[in-house]
Amino acid sequence: MAGCSQAPPAKPLARNLLIVTIDTLRADHVGAYGYARSQASFVDEVARSGVAFERAYAAAPITLPSHATLMTGRYPPGHGSRDNGVHVSKTVPTMATELKAHGFRTAAFVAAFPLDHQFGLDRGFDVYSDRLPRGPDGKPSNERPASQVVDEAIGWLRTGAAPFFLWVHVFEPHAPYGDASDRRPVLDRYDQEIGVANRELMRLLGAIDARETLVIVAADHGEAFGEHGEFSHSIFIYDTTLRVPLAMRGPGINAGERTTNRERQTANLVSDPVTLADVETDEEKKYQIVGDLEADIKQGLIAISSPVARALIGKHEGDTITIDAPAGQREFEIVAVLYEG
Ligand SMILES: [Zn+2]
Repeated sequence: MAGCSQAPPAKPLARNLLIVTIDTLRADHVGAYGYARSQASFVDEVARSGVAFERAYAAAPITLPSHATLMTGRYPPGHGSRDNGVHVSKTVPTMATELKAHGFRTAAFVAAFPLDHQFGLDRGFDVYSDRLPRGPDGKPSNERPASQVVDEAIGWLRTGAAPFFLWVHVFEPHAPYGDASDRRPVLDRYDQEIGVANRELMRLLGAIDARETLVIVAADHGEAFGEHGEFSHSIFIYDTTLRVPLAMRGPGINAGERTTNRERQTANLVSDPVTLADVETDEEKKYQIVGDLEADIKQGLIAISSPVARALIGKHEGDTITIDAPAGQREFEIVAVLYEG
């Protein structure tokens, strides 16, 4: 049979990277995580045709610091943004700065004010679209619809060729969950908003060449609906607001694989683009911005920042960090926050 005596084919590599972040999406409201009423078929589809990480955690229960960690591979002490409105370091490398240096076209389309370019996540992007509509009072809104974000993203995809890095952020699941006067149960409204964002993201998925693109989807944090006395997010660091859905698919990723044996931090995602074709073959400019996580932790500063609890301080003992949190404690094994690749 043809091919039997030949060397095994090289591992297929993606050329492009698409990162989708769905604001405020709890893992347990996603079908891939066992939710029977899932409106998040985008995540489910990526998980089904790729991998889902059973226990994935964001670095902070709030939008800007969490996204800054995802984009830099640094925890808040390392990238400098400890709260919404606190500027991200102007010098820390990001996925965008690194991939642009490798010749990628880069663009971001974001849907909410905490990610406005003035806070520093725009570095390295050729296009950073954050235009928010104005309300009746003339002031900019806090958010814009996924339909607009995805329209712009698809338009940009059509303007050029591979390789590209595209980041798309949608905000619907964030409070107030649609029409605040809606009397239906809050979880119904939350799920519905997930569905609104999802419909647009499925459109985006249809515009991507699956054979060439590494697709990663994550949330920046979860959402509390009264657990531990909390509503919304940004205060406590229980799984309620830190555990997030995380799935990826692309060339070389075996469909249906489910990773259950260890935690995965969104901070580790910066290591995945190393596998992109135009990066892996570029020996002189090997993309490698991981490795600083350990330094951040060893400063004695905890990975997680909370605006209410100021900087939470972690105690470093052997393989465990214990965090003093506003209500109770949470333990992390260090191995869980270091990249093992
Ligand atoms: Zn958020």
